[in-house]
Amino acid sequence: MTQPTLEQIASCVAGYDPNALPVAQAQEFISRLVPRVSAVESTALRASLGRVLARDIVSAIDVPAHDNSAMDGYALRGSDLTSDADTVLEVAGTGFAGQAFERTVSPGHCIRIMTGAVMPEGLDTVVPQEFTKPEGDRGVRIPAGSVRTGDNRRLRGEDLARGSAALHAGRLIRPADLGLLASLGQAEVPVWRRLRVAFFSTGDELRSIGELLDEGCVYDSNRYTIWGMLQRLGCEVLDLGVVRDDPAALRAAFSEAAANADAVITSGGVSVGEADHTKKIMAELGDVLFWRIAMRPGRPMAIGRIQSNGHDAILFGLPGNPVAVMVTFYAFVRDALRAMSGMTEAVQPMLRAACTTPLRKKPGRTEYQRGIVTRAPDARWQVAITGSQGSGILSSMSVANGMVVLHHEQGNVAAGDEVDVIPFDGLV
Ligand code: AMP
Ligand code: MG
Repeated sequence: MTQPTLEQIASCVAGYDPNALPVAQAQEFISRLVPRVSAVESTALRASLGRVLARDIVSAIDVPAHDNSAMDGYALRGSDLTSDADTVLEVAGTGFAGQAFERTVSPGHCIRIMTGAVMPEGLDTVVPQEFTKPEGDRGVRIPAGSVRTGDNRRLRGEDLARGSAALHAGRLIRPADLGLLASLGQAEVPVWRRLRVAFFSTGDELRSIGELLDEGCVYDSNRYTIWGMLQRLGCEVLDLGVVRDDPAALRAAFSEAAANADAVITSGGVSVGEADHTKKIMAELGDVLFWRIAMRPGRPMAIGRIQSNGHDAILFGLPGNPVAVMVTFYAFVRDALRAMSGMTEAVQPMLRAACTTPLRKKPGRTEYQRGIVTRAPDARWQVAITGSQGSGILSSMSVANGMVVLHHEQGNVAAGDEVDVIPFDGLV
């Protein structure tokens, strides 16, 4: 299958304008650009946590395999219940979880039953222990109206029916899925191979940790935020360090990255009017577009394909500012890498929270402001913007617990207006 050219993709994106590209159009472009990994591997059940399921998992058994009791109590026939008076039944034995109750229970009788124990043939209802009273030596009294036919019984196959898809391909495997797969007796899980992502930082002013911070220099922080975000996405990472603003060094780094990875992420050197060589080498090694996105922070970005040794990689050339790197990663790279990893569920849940301060916002661009979400006294969510929103102020990101998204068409926000917030954390 031949890949569409960037020009062909651009022609499919309505309102495509590389110099003032709305976030939604950039996202659509990228979703059309990125291929999915194609190799499948088999992993042990526990090792599949955080991986992406490559095949539908069809249940070979009914779960549960038998009708069983949902409570500790007495299992009985619904037809033995008297509707307007107490019912008294004789107790014919006890059913324990994990043990079959072999004898048949005749009408007018019930058995004491434990949670999870198989319902004996003919019995269809469980009355919880606490509703009942003993009656003589061998009987139990069930007060009128305390139970109806079919209550407190779990049906065979009600969790997973044999022959049905228990999990669909494209799913990120979470703790509940591990349990579900275990309930099917599945020891090995087919997953897409991990995505390989190479990254490096560009800029002569950057120093790596352990080096002396020369006059006018800064420590490279982007390689650490990028590494962290890639780890959270379950990618295999290839850290190529800081690359000097030198054509030969840049060419070597891009070539190594493209030859060994599915995606290449760089930071820095893509601004308009940037004097360094990054953009030139990107364009030389592949099919690359330089966008100005209608967003703040994170306006400049390079996107495309680069080649090395006959191997293709998707390039994400992110801006250099530390906040812009994270925001553009969350806005574009995250979903792209998830799709490349084989994931089919891309929806990012957002909160609606009342903004505690007024915000100035021009329609015609998307803004991502860092915020701290808390619970208001009236139990609604509220969000406060974290101090200075400069795109170099990484502490604003660190102190925040989410990003307020002010959408493309949105204008000023008055104090108390509800805004969308993307929380940084979800459940484990
Ligand atoms: P650039 O996009 O290359 O013009 O960089 C924009 C700003 O981000 C400059 O102040 C750079 O020093 C800074 N910057 C670029 N890359 C990094 C990095 N890896 N770590 C920290 N700051 C960076
Ligand atoms: Mg630079």
